[in-house]
Amino acid sequence: MPRTSDLYVIALGSNVRHARHGGPERVLRAAVAALAHAGLGIEAMAPVIRSAPLGPSLRRYANGAVLVRSALLPPAMLALLKSIEREFGRRGGKRWGSRVLDLDIVLWSGGEWRSAGLCVPHAAFRLRDFVLRPIAALVPNWRDPRTGFSIKQLHSRLTRSLRAPREPRPDA
Ligand code: ADP
Ligand code: MG
Repeated sequence: MPRTSDLYVIALGSNVRHARHGGPERVLRAAVAALAHAGLGIEAMAPVIRSAPLGPSLRRYANGAVLVRSALLPPAMLALLKSIEREFGRRGGKRWGSRVLDLDIVLWSGGEWRSAGLCVPHAAFRLRDFVLRPIAALVPNWRDPRTGFSIKQLHSRLTRSLRAPREPRPDA
């Protein structure tokens, strides 16, 4: 049967101003418009959050997520996302460097997908508050096919582990 209505959760991030669109939050809104223009059905958008920079980059990020409907299979979806990143001026380069726009496939209604350069669900999403927080607002009950936990559960487990008190040092 042809796939006509797969759902994807796409994470969006930006920590660089775009000359035409403006600051990171505006970049995210323009990126959602570009996704719609490319033919994806935007079902819902999570509230945009601001998060601290990761790695060597110093600028704060805007992070968001959208639920989209599409008939594309994951490799075609990734190619589309990369073409939109390029349209927004993103160049290859440092993995953790500043970027005008980062678009990641986090979840797909088909479950898991693995091919060259593509892993769905996204390999690191369970450990990233800035990914889980927007997604928990969008699809709290979606189950991670790998662990069986819902997004809401993954997010509260991560939040708890980030807040957990350190073990006292034996010499303290
Ligand atoms: P990150 O998104 O983890 O910050 P990059 O945006 O630099 O890192 O992505 C590096 C590569 O990760 C991409 O070129 C892409 O081929 C690969 N990749 C693997 N799985 C995914 C996925 N689910 N979504 C987006 N990119 C992915
Ligand atoms: Mg990416």
